Amino acid sequence: MKKTLAAAVILTIAVAAVCAFSNRERTYSADIFALDTYISLQIRAGKNGGDILDECENRIKELERLFSHTIDESDISKINRHAGDGTFVPVSRETIEVLTLSKEIYTESDGAFDITVAPLVNLWNVTAENPRVPSDGEIQNIKALICGDDIIIDSAANSVRLRKSGQQISLGASAKGYITDELIRLLKERRITSAILNLGGNTAAVGTKPDGSLWRVGVQSPDDSAELLGVLSVSDKCVITSGDYERYFMQNGTRYHHIIDPKTGYPSQNSLRSVTVIGTNGAVADCLSTACFILGKDKSVPLLEKYGCCAIFCDSDMNTEYVGDVVLEK
Ligand code: ADP
Ligand code: MG
Repeated sequence: MKKTLAAAVILTIAVAAVCAFSNRERTYSADIFALDTYISLQIRAGKNGGDILDECENRIKELERLFSHTIDESDISKINRHAGDGTFVPVSRETIEVLTLSKEIYTESDGAFDITVAPLVNLWNVTAENPRVPSDGEIQNIKALICGDDIIIDSAANSVRLRKSGQQISLGASAKGYITDELIRLLKERRITSAILNLGGNTAAVGTKPDGSLWRVGVQSPDDSAELLGVLSVSDKCVITSGDYERYFMQNGTRYHHIIDPKTGYPSQNSLRSVTVIGTNGAVADCLSTACFILGKDKSVPLLEKYGCCAIFCDSDMNTEYVGDVVLEK
């Protein structure tokens, strides 16, 4: 009897050891091209790590199909197609959420952040093969269409319309942040406590590094993609940068980049080259990085404080200024 018991105990221990070994955590990573950008995901997980990354990739693509204005059947394309015809377009809960936040930041940033800027973004088309500076007349004509107040959201009925014909929205400045939050939520549901996500330069540090130390996130220099302005040590934070150095063209010594000031109709012109926002909510940090880039540091302070975010402002001399509690190790 004793022998049987001892054998059972040994067997139980052996099975437990095999299970523990086969479920030992390791690092899983995935590289994905979606949302018009390179995405890399790295998570620490047991043997289901590959499945979790597949879930993340599916979620990214699912949200891209809702949010992309270049996909005909997306919620955003449908809203754009019905601009000005009075139709309330039924959309997903996620689209309502990202539009509601985008409209809120429009109000809070005094119109600097405005997703109805899309027709101007198209006019400038800075990433075209032969981009050009539009005439001031063209710019002023289209600028008359830009108005975040014209996004009419019926959240009870999950439907949206744009007030005027010709208006369009694009989520270029907020979708990646929203999707980052969705991935973080998914990873937490799967009990992942260590992950680093990078969506086109927007980074989310989930938990800590596998050894328990803080994640170290480099902030790129606008002058040289191989150089860093410095490194942030973070945990459970999104680090999101807007800058003039990736999507732009040069003409007569002027840099025409992809962040348009809705008040002027031109790419925002101040001494800033990049703004990095650090916060716990990716969607908010994404909207704010764009808004603060246009507003400049002084006008950004109340906005950053309202949303509990910190920021790094980098000017054309590569001087950095900080709002909030930021430690950028040089
Ligand atoms: P990135 O997409 O490079 O990370 P941003 O988050 O700052 O950078 O988003 C820039 C994109 O947002 C532009 O390519 C354009 O589609 C859109 N955009 C440009 N100006 C504005 C603005 N004032 N408000 C909202 N969206 C904007
Ligand atoms: Mg942004």
